[in-house]
Amino acid sequence: MDKSDDPTYPAEAIAAVEAAAAARAAAKKAKADANKPKVNRQTVSYLSRRFAEVGLNPNKRHGQNFLVDLNLIQMIASTAKLNSNDVVLEIGTGMGSLTGLMALEAGTVITVEIDEYLFQMASEELEELDNVIMLKQDALKNKNKMHENVINAVKEQLAINPDRVFKLAANLPYNVATPIISNFLRSEVVPASMSVTIQKELADRLVAKPGSKDYGALSVWVQGLCDVSIVRVMSPKVFWPRPKVDSAIIHIEHRPERRASFADIDFFYAFVRAMFFHRRKFMRSVAVAAFKGQLDKTQVDEVLAAENHGANARTEELQGVELQKLCEAFRQKLIKVTGQERPKMANQGN
Ligand code: SAM
Repeated sequence: MDKSDDPTYPAEAIAAVEAAAAARAAAKKAKADANKPKVNRQTVSYLSRRFAEVGLNPNKRHGQNFLVDLNLIQMIASTAKLNSNDVVLEIGTGMGSLTGLMALEAGTVITVEIDEYLFQMASEELEELDNVIMLKQDALKNKNKMHENVINAVKEQLAINPDRVFKLAANLPYNVATPIISNFLRSEVVPASMSVTIQKELADRLVAKPGSKDYGALSVWVQGLCDVSIVRVMSPKVFWPRPKVDSAIIHIEHRPERRASFADIDFFYAFVRAMFFHRRKFMRSVAVAAFKGQLDKTQVDEVLAAENHGANARTEELQGVELQKLCEAFRQKLIKVTGQERPKMANQGN
């Protein structure tokens, strides 16, 4: 029976007990909040003061545009749906504003910063957080590969517990956003999700559908393995200093079952890059060029005819699944012609 229905408990006594319980809960929360590490609110005035103190200016070459709208920083973290099992990788620590916020929610945050001075300043900002691992270096080995130090740091953290999940969440440096997203889908450790800020123009390419001007190799590659959505478009005003173009927060959710449907994922990567290399040409001549030295024109025509693609077909009109099917048909033809079990494409688009 509920105490409030029991005549032996006067209403005032019940109210007093409830008030005491609420006060204890509030005191417990206040204590927990007091024990939480402090993360500085990085507004424009805070950042410009910190830069002035050390006599520096943000470096354009490294895409140093800091997100200064605190709600949007929170939105990146919320989009990643972080919890204590997550190993989050952030590329571009900056002054550590997103890092600090994510460290309060995730199990571990690995954050990478190329700029020595920013690395120093962020180390001071984040010193109270014991679940943050900071790496001072270029996150990329080259434009086709993530740096092994970054991959190894992620692998080490994942090895601690099999329940751990790897996610990428960042306000990415715009000049390297494309290689970071596309390399991670081919890396040894593929993020379960990527919640990142990128240029709006790149976001449009990632979500583009066949026949649109933005549809290309990147759209097919990423959509072939993931669900992609634009979470929020942002004006230059929310950054300091302001970039020249609009930005967007995107969410990329990896679909392992789609990956499993590819016989050779690296071949598909090379194939879509090669097939979108000459956008204006008909697909037949692009395929002839792509397989030059490996398949002759008749063999290319045999594959296209078997897959019902006429002389006027263009790559940009094909859905991802059609390109996947065509890719496999070419791969099988190469296996037959070369006798190799795992043939590679000789001419890859760049
Ligand atoms: N996380 C901060 C924020 O949200 O405001 C800073 C983001 S800022 C857009 C990008 C950061 O990435 C800069 O601090 C820049 O120095 C760093 N960066 C640029 N290229 C990098 C690379 N190749 N590897 C690691 N960090 C890089």
